[in-house]
Amino acid sequence: MIYADYNATTPLDPEVRAAMNEALDVTFGNPSSIHSAGQAARRLVDRARVQVAGLIGAAADEIVFTSGGTESDNLAVLGVAEAATGHGIVTSAVEHKAVLDPCKYLQAKGHAVTFLPVDRDGRVDIAALEAAVKTDVALVSLMLANNDTGAIQPVAEAARAAQAAGVLVHTDAVQAAGKLPIDVKELGVSLLSFSSHKIHGPKGAGALFVRRGVRLTPLVHGGRQERTLRPGTENVPAIVGFGKACELARARLDADARRVAELRDHFEKQILARVPGTRVNGGNQRLPNTTNIAFPRLDGEAITINLDMLGMAVSTGAACSSADKTPSHVLVAMGQSAAEARSSVRFSFGRDTTDEEVDRASNLVVQAVKILREALP
Ligand code: PLP
Repeated sequence: MIYADYNATTPLDPEVRAAMNEALDVTFGNPSSIHSAGQAARRLVDRARVQVAGLIGAAADEIVFTSGGTESDNLAVLGVAEAATGHGIVTSAVEHKAVLDPCKYLQAKGHAVTFLPVDRDGRVDIAALEAAVKTDVALVSLMLANNDTGAIQPVAEAARAAQAAGVLVHTDAVQAAGKLPIDVKELGVSLLSFSSHKIHGPKGAGALFVRRGVRLTPLVHGGRQERTLRPGTENVPAIVGFGKACELARARLDADARRVAELRDHFEKQILARVPGTRVNGGNQRLPNTTNIAFPRLDGEAITINLDMLGMAVSTGAACSSADKTPSHVLVAMGQSAAEARSSVRFSFGRDTTDEEVDRASNLVVQAVKILREALP
């Protein structure tokens, strides 16, 4: 099986697994207990917090552990909306549902929410953002990189514009973390979400960076863990794994990104040359590992199913939306018709992808397209 769906999730790194096994075997204590078993667990959580903060240039006390990207996004959007005096939210039409849906929830409760449009490459226009933050706005939430296309948003510019208007900025960096260098100070954001299972860590762990002094209302109430922002006994083995995954991602980032970009570019060139009519969605400023390709007149889902039968895992977009038949809201927001959007397939490569796999992958895509084109009326 060739795995080309790293944006959906990634395999656990063996070093992460070893760190988690050690935590599972020897440290069962509750980090809130004052006895030595509890304190041993506390030390593991503290170490992980330093490792996690290190990936994004934050201080350890600015990290709130959560269950993953979805929870971090919800805590940022709903937590600021509840705590802030400003009423409005500005976001983009291409956010992941973990941001869009809490924004829609707030809209239904009477908050003014602006969903900024994007251009054909999937990027928001800073002038439109500047215009939108002028009124009674509490938060701008703009993703760093898109999960479907890999398109990178001008978050630092957006943060400068928002800051000038005194508005907080959150970025969903779930896809960008481990693939792009991230420094929260350079980005100028006050909140940033990321997730363990996208960077070879375990599922069920994630973090929200909350800049010192930013006020948030928690989603869950009932204890003092995570500075009361996310109470409940910590998932110590998952947090340990997430910490190790962040440490590895930081150490390997440059080399991994360079290598995977070469593989992705090679694959992309092969498909564009060998499958007439194909084109890439998402412009030139994209994550190094992602290519989203339109196969006009064909159905992306049919290509995905055929590739699965041929031994290759890809997807048509966000895994959590794959149950519904609607075309990617990201591609539609980029100005594509529903039919165009449905013809696209996302290929996302990663740390374990090999040269040989990428060559084989392009052959399999050519084969799948041939099968489907022959079946066309
Ligand atoms: N945000 C983006 C951009 C994502 O790609 C994802 C997952 O695909 C999420 C949020 C949700 O993260 P998690 O799966 O950790 O809940």
